[in-house]
Amino acid sequence: MRIVFIGPPGAGKGTQSQRLCQRLGLVHLSTGDMLRAAVDEGSPLGREATKYMAAGMLVPDQLVQRMVFDRLAEADAQGGWLLDGFPRRISQAESLTAWLVQRGERLAAAVHFNVPLDVLLARLAGRGRHDDEPKVVEERLAQFNQRIQPLLEYYQALGQLREIDGTGSPDDVFERILESIEQTA
Ligand code: AMP
Repeated sequence: MRIVFIGPPGAGKGTQSQRLCQRLGLVHLSTGDMLRAAVDEGSPLGREATKYMAAGMLVPDQLVQRMVFDRLAEADAQGGWLLDGFPRRISQAESLTAWLVQRGERLAAAVHFNVPLDVLLARLAGRGRHDDEPKVVEERLAQFNQRIQPLLEYYQALGQLREIDGTGSPDDVFERILESIEQTA
């Protein structure tokens, strides 16, 4: 099964990704984690990406897409995967669809986490990662909101969008995700 998680920072995608991957035997790919690892390694990709990440901006599509598609083509990802943090904008969604079509594959679901802004800000305040400075958080949420709508409409039109309520306990959210994914089976 191939799944995409869509949700703003603080929506709980990381926690739920781990659970769902464990349950369904999927490979978990977080583009944020992959990019941070590239930055830490000091690879050419990392050196280029860090300029954008430090400014709270999206890394250019070409760089992220090459990183994602190379990873998805690896042997361990052939049994299914969950993408967390990609696609972030409609151009990325279109290229993911094209990549899948080329391989005769399809997405099972794009799961959108609905979480009100006040809940997000409270969760992020308790997290304290180095790029969770208030100004950076605001910039990320603003950018996210700007781009989310066309992305949701895109997956809605493909019949792949699953909206879930991302508030409440991690157990509650996980149950909702399982239900929404069972609908696609
Ligand atoms: P995240 O941990 O998912 O919030 O990602 C951290 C940062 O990595 C983002 O603020 C972006 O600069 C970059 N990033 C992650 N995923 C993507 C993506 N799909 N496209 C462009 N930039 C990304």
